[in-house]
Amino acid sequence: MTNGIRLVLLGRQGSGKGTQAVRLAEHFDVPHISTGDMLRAAVKDGTEFGLKAKAVMDAGGLVSDEIMVGVVQERLAQPDAAGRGYILDGFPRTEAQARALEAITSTLPLEVVLNLEVAESEVIERITKRRVCRSCGRIYSVDTPPADDWTCDTDGGEVVQRDDDTEGAVRKRLELYAAETLPLVEFYRAGGQAVEVDGLGTPDDVFGRVIDAITVHQSA
Ligand SMILES: [Zn+2]
Repeated sequence: MTNGIRLVLLGRQGSGKGTQAVRLAEHFDVPHISTGDMLRAAVKDGTEFGLKAKAVMDAGGLVSDEIMVGVVQERLAQPDAAGRGYILDGFPRTEAQARALEAITSTLPLEVVLNLEVAESEVIERITKRRVCRSCGRIYSVDTPPADDWTCDTDGGEVVQRDDDTEGAVRKRLELYAAETLPLVEFYRAGGQAVEVDGLGTPDDVFGRVIDAITVHQSA
């Protein structure tokens, strides 16, 4: 078994970050902790910050940084993450969150912040080509459509473009990422934790590059 790792994953939507996160978690035998899952689990388990988050969300509000950092801290303190480490996906998103994360991980600091680099033009193309079955969620693309006129091969459902996947919606999210999250790469470069990997290619190709880059970083 490999040693564990304490890793944060950064990358634009459509960069293939989710796929690499799952593979990294398997490879290093650590939990894959995504923001959404973590928040849902905290609410379900009724943790201190889970209850605070629930109160805000039930009132239709957005969970503040303070509550989100509390949820992250609670999750990282659980035995699996505290023991071998974690792949943290979707947090931090801002420099303020990164500084808060630095504070709560001061005894066991982050080892690697992996930035999966895929150009904006490429992710726009990937996402705007995506089509999804309304009934089962199976994913297609303009390049790999269902056999029969946008009818799902699995269950005959209607295969459509999601509102979130239109070019305007994607560009809006990319602008937010460029403004809020991209500066984190510089922040972690300065801290010596940044590892940058080209995210173009098949998931296998990218994963090979990721592991090589982490190995080089850890032996440096
Ligand atoms: Zn379907």
